[in-house]
Amino acid sequence: MNDNIGFNLDKMDVKLIGGMAHYEMQTNDGPLLLNDLLGKSLKLNFHREIYCTHCNKKTNKSYSGGYCYVCSIKLAECDMCILKPETCHYSLGTCRDPKWGEKNCMTHHYVYLANSSGLKVGITRASQVPTRFIDQGAVRALPIIKVGSRHMSGVFEKLFASEYKDKTDWRKMLKGDQEFIDLQEKRDELFELFGEDLDQLEHQFGEDQVSILEQESEIEIHYPVIAYPEKVSSLSVEKLGIIGGTLKGIKGQYLLFDTGVINIRSHTGYRVHLEF
Ligand SMILES: [Zn+2]
Repeated sequence: MNDNIGFNLDKMDVKLIGGMAHYEMQTNDGPLLLNDLLGKSLKLNFHREIYCTHCNKKTNKSYSGGYCYVCSIKLAECDMCILKPETCHYSLGTCRDPKWGEKNCMTHHYVYLANSSGLKVGITRASQVPTRFIDQGAVRALPIIKVGSRHMSGVFEKLFASEYKDKTDWRKMLKGDQEFIDLQEKRDELFELFGEDLDQLEHQFGEDQVSILEQESEIEIHYPVIAYPEKVSSLSVEKLGIIGGTLKGIKGQYLLFDTGVINIRSHTGYRVHLEF
């Protein structure tokens, strides 16, 4: 395909089929299954234009991961509380868009453990399982607590983050040599360590709002990768304009080329056309 009309990049859609992550890119020609392009040549030609993922207006800079400035200060999904869920202020009546908040935040969330670049704790909307795990490049994940809102999940995450990391080291994640971690064992350790805090938070939020998941099993995720890079180098769209090479793998929201790696999600709204 060599179609110069172009389309605006969005995060890759992911599905877990038989334990393998499947990646689709939404192009102007419809969805493209990227797993099929492994080992083949793929080029992303960047037009050096960015379009807001919400209002579609052209913007010189991408704010909040794919928005224009106006949308980034207006939309609930661009508020600081999205990055720091424990600061969700819906209950104060100050949510930028209460309807959005009801749909996205005042709904079931999981606190989970994952092995992405090592052990980490994270949170996700229940409907985003296992998408969230794949987006982070986790090789294993284990939901450990189910709660009634985003805010509650953030409070638990912050508590556990004193013990386990809540960030992924993407360079390490892309090297692909994660050592095995028994997440169920780590969960048991965590529950023992924070037993009193869990009881207290369960009481504070209400027992019908918090389920401690003691029996959940791990989700294992394999990625379509022929070869992991020995040295992870990030390809700069600003410098290069055209990004690509032989597609060696896909992990998290990254495309791994023989020439380097690119995070597709962080280029949301960038106009491109593909060559393959
Ligand atoms: Zn906008």
